[in-house]
Amino acid sequence: MLTTLIYRSQLNTSCESIGLEAIIEKAKRRNSEAGITGILLFNGIDFLQILEGSEESVVRLYHKIRVDKRHQSVVELMRDYGPRRRFENVGMLLFDLRAESPRSVLERVLRYSKLERYLTSDDRVFKFIQTFITRPKTVSEKRQVFAGEEWQLEAEKAPFGDSLALQTKQPCQFAFQPIVEPSERKITSIEALIRGNDGGSPEQFFQAISPDDIYKIDLETKAWAFSLAERLGIGDHKIAINLLPMSLVNVPDAVEYLVNQISRYHLLPEQVVIEVTENEIISGFNQFHSAIKQLRAAGIGLAIDDFGSGYAGLSLLTRFQPDKLKIDREIISNIHLSGPKQAIVKSIVSCCTDLEITLVAEGIEKLEEWHWLESVGIKRFQGFLFARPQLNGVGKIHWPQPAF
Ligand code: C2E
Ligand code: MN
Ligand code: MN
Repeated sequence: MLTTLIYRSQLNTSCESIGLEAIIEKAKRRNSEAGITGILLFNGIDFLQILEGSEESVVRLYHKIRVDKRHQSVVELMRDYGPRRRFENVGMLLFDLRAESPRSVLERVLRYSKLERYLTSDDRVFKFIQTFITRPKTVSEKRQVFAGEEWQLEAEKAPFGDSLALQTKQPCQFAFQPIVEPSERKITSIEALIRGNDGGSPEQFFQAISPDDIYKIDLETKAWAFSLAERLGIGDHKIAINLLPMSLVNVPDAVEYLVNQISRYHLLPEQVVIEVTENEIISGFNQFHSAIKQLRAAGIGLAIDDFGSGYAGLSLLTRFQPDKLKIDREIISNIHLSGPKQAIVKSIVSCCTDLEITLVAEGIEKLEEWHWLESVGIKRFQGFLFARPQLNGVGKIHWPQPAF
């Protein structure tokens, strides 16, 4: 199937001396063998390349480019399918914006392309080209270059008591995972993740419970999380717990129960944040709304969990605005490589800035992900990179540090 792939990248600074023409000549030969056509635009810092060809050969070439030392910060912007090539007989044409005015480049691109002029205004490929040609070179993208060797992780023991042994007199255990603010080297809260007594996942734990009892047990088990927090000595750190919204709606006096348990373990309601996932909020919104009011009235915080994984998206924020919003791991994973993911996260950042909602990025596993997210203004993170969940305790925190 005829595939068009667009990516943006930057010329590796150590390759600046190599002639661009030489690179193009080599690429031309390689591409024509693979039946790939397209254009390459260069503005002195950034490349924008359009690749057209069979899906297999385009994807294979793109994977080579991603590991090519001459390119850095390679980000995929678009992958689409179409009935015909836009740049058919041109092999791989280079347009150097340093040597030619934007207007003249644009005219030449149009002349070489098969695009009918009246079609260009709706064509995404053409719009990517046009934007690249006409926008000023951005300093911000220069800043986003990530150099792995410039960073190292420094392990630090969390300022809490040692992990406890298996708690045999309880129906469940909890694993704690910190949420951190690396720029301040600060733990902002710890999330309590439920575990079965055999160490099983939350899913396994709830599967073993009869559906009639789920809400009551979901609510009541949180007392063990507060108890663990007290015994580990979390001090004035915050603790986040996960709840099904229906556990607050269906169990009589649920909020009162929580408030009592919080004070029983010498915590304050203001220290507690309840995490609820996007889809669960929507499915029972009207009933849940009164529970939210009670929680807020008691001083307890609220976070939307797994934001972006459900079907509500940003429109959820027209209905209510939580204190915190946690961006789902699916969107975060490999964000440094994906244009669509980057665009979505930027819009979430902009929304939450206007609404003063604190953002947390979940499931950070790579320094590259963290680095990109910090560059667009996200400060709080949770993920294996910083700290893994630890049963009945809080594990070591790994802080990113400049290597020299
Ligand atoms: P969640 O609240 O989004 O919690 C984060 C999950 O992602 C945890 O899985 C955690 O171990 C995992 N995680 C954290 N960092 C990373 C990372 O860098 N990479 C990857 N691959 N995973 C990471 P866990 O503990 O299995 O929890 C799964 C879900 O179960 C939770 O997702 C939460 O929605 C739910 N859950 C946990 N405890 C409770 C509870 O007490 N009540 C209810 N109703 N649900 C709970
Ligand atoms: Mn959660
Ligand atoms: Mn989550």
